Amino acid sequence: SIPLGFFGGIGAASKQGVLVKGGNYLEALNNVKIVVFDKTGTLTQGSFNVTAIHPENGFEKEQLLESAAYAELHSNHPIADSIREAFGRELDESKVNDYEEVSGHGIRARLDGSTVLAGNAKLMRAEGISFIESSDTGTVVHVAVDGRYAGRIVIADEVKTDSAEAVRGLKNLGIRKTVMLTGDAKSVGEFVGRSLGIDEVHAELLPEHKVEQIERLDREKGAKEKILFVGDGINDTPVLARADIGVAMGGLGSDAAIEAADVVIMTDEPSKIVTAIGIAKRTRRIVW
Ligand code: ADP
Ligand code: MG
Repeated sequence: SIPLGFFGGIGAASKQGVLVKGGNYLEALNNVKIVVFDKTGTLTQGSFNVTAIHPENGFEKEQLLESAAYAELHSNHPIADSIREAFGRELDESKVNDYEEVSGHGIRARLDGSTVLAGNAKLMRAEGISFIESSDTGTVVHVAVDGRYAGRIVIADEVKTDSAEAVRGLKNLGIRKTVMLTGDAKSVGEFVGRSLGIDEVHAELLPEHKVEQIERLDREKGAKEKILFVGDGINDTPVLARADIGVAMGGLGSDAAIEAADVVIMTDEPSKIVTAIGIAKRTRRIVW
């Protein structure tokens, strides 16, 4: 049976915007030693702004942006929103004949009889496109039209001010290791990780690679140590399900992510994890 004090703990957490789905998770929160963050939308705002457009091979800036905007027409990834917004003009849905979102890579679309790719270096490599590698600290979306490289669009995301507080707070609570997992480029991942003082950064990961990272950490951890993963829910449902404690940032999260999560944060503040662990520790003192 669940000791009564747990209900107090769950109530206290919910008043702070943290929904804990059961007393067993409150207990597990006490034993968290490793905290794993998703980057985009979790540590960063996940709202991108186009900062540069570099056309190649005779393409015009406007053409490059238009192709990308059409390719991204049906995507609800924050990257897609920023590209459509930068294009700024109405998009005619009937021009998009076919569309596929390739997880951790980007988009492959059929537009008016041509094939457009919009995504990261991994997508370009997979499709055999020769493209220009860049070392921007911003996220880069490469675009190819009918197998020809059309150039790249650089978009910037900002680290949430709350993220530094979250990492600091976790260290103060005695968390042994902080880790960031991202599908984004190494240059971006390392920049964000370094600026926040995160111990380990792993970049260019597909959702299944993120699960493998959790499995590796699981093998390395002590017997009683728990791993907490926090993500915004875009592409991370398998990871949320695999971690000892999966935390969804509920503000943006999909229904599937909220369902898969053990704990839901109602705001966009990663520091709520510190709040949750703090409440779990106080609850423990009352229960035992
Ligand atoms: P993160 O792991 O940082 O949350 P995602 O798994 O959502 O990122 O995406 C990983 C990478 O895949 C992005 O950084 C981007 O390079 C590429 N990508 C994903 N979706 C899109 C899209 N709709 N358009 C362009 N690129 C995309
Ligand atoms: Mg994500």
